[in-house]
Amino acid sequence: MFIRAHAKKRSAQPTLYTRAVRDLVIIGAGPAGLSAAIWARTLGLSPLLLERASEAGGQLLRIFRDVTDFPGVIAPDGRLLSDRFLAHARHMQVEFRLGANVAKLEAAARKLTLTTGETIDAGAIIVASGVRPRPLGVPGEAHARTTFHGAREAFVGRRAVVIGSGDAAVENATAIAAVTKSVTLIARGSALRARSSLRELLPSTVDILSSTRVESIERESDTLIVRVQGPRCPQRIVADAVLVKIGNLPNTEAFGELQRQKDGRIAVNAKGHTSAAGVFAAGEVADGVLPRIVTAAADGAIAAREAAAFLGRW
Ligand SMILES: Cc1cc2nc3c(=O)[nH]c(=O)nc-3n(C[C@H](O)[C@H](O)[C@H](O)COP(=O)(O)OP(=O)(O)OC[C@H]3O[C@@H](n4cnc5c(N)ncnc54)[C@H](O)[C@@H]3O)c2cc1C
Repeated sequence: MFIRAHAKKRSAQPTLYTRAVRDLVIIGAGPAGLSAAIWARTLGLSPLLLERASEAGGQLLRIFRDVTDFPGVIAPDGRLLSDRFLAHARHMQVEFRLGANVAKLEAAARKLTLTTGETIDAGAIIVASGVRPRPLGVPGEAHARTTFHGAREAFVGRRAVVIGSGDAAVENATAIAAVTKSVTLIARGSALRARSSLRELLPSTVDILSSTRVESIERESDTLIVRVQGPRCPQRIVADAVLVKIGNLPNTEAFGELQRQKDGRIAVNAKGHTSAAGVFAAGEVADGVLPRIVTAAADGAIAAREAAAFLGRW
């Protein structure tokens, strides 16, 4: 890191700011970013891993049930897996910066600006910024939750509403039905989108309202009122807890210069190359085919290899 004088015209005191130069900067410390960093170290690079949260792990920290589909580890929750990834990254002496939020990427110059104003120049960049829950976009949304397993006590013995129709919505409605008084599943389309193996597990006690749109969620003393519009449904559903599971949005606000896919994810080729030379993308921010831990980790490794090749280090 060095200090550079920014020569301002007619300024007696030059503005000083820090400007770091790194061979590889990785944005996001979820499975993709951590795997990319581990691989980059294996290849002899000195990656800097930037994570905007106060803790590394990404979505792993939001998995409060067992994880059974990552080879070699059957974990009681995502945190254990995250701890293993982190221990591995520390073992490889990966340099982390937590609370480092990338506000802007100038792709052609491979220059990053953090929300603090600090700039970092990189030889290569891997964007592994993942996704966040898609908001409903209705008034009162703040009354709803985005996790059941992480807030189980709010549902036990109560009246629950689950909004969504994909795998996550149906899987959660099934789990919630086992502990609640009632579950209403609200789907915007005419049929559930979840895979058939999950739909088959959905108990018949779950009340499904299809072709139904949520208009608002209101709090009335201790209860929530979900107002809906639909062909055959009541206009008002009384609930104690509401769970929203309507998919995810890619974290791409800072990466406006990179080409996108139709769904808003960053466009990449099979090796993680984006539309900008030397900028790669890995994990869920780019890959919507199988958004899992194992694929994010694999994407990260491939992106690290490609970054090393770009830097002439492979
Ligand atoms: C409830 C739940 C259950 C799941 N269960 C499973 C399962 O059983 N099996 C499975 O394989 N997968 C599961 N998944 C999916 C899996 O967790 C994801 O596919 C995986 O975490 C994606 O990894 P990623 O690194 O691409 O992104 P993420 O895990 O989303 O990590 C991205 C990171 O980038 C950071 N970031 C974003 N923008 C910036 C920025 N501008 N500057 C700096 N940092 C930034 C974020 O804070 C985050 O830490 C589950 C997910 C959830 C939410």
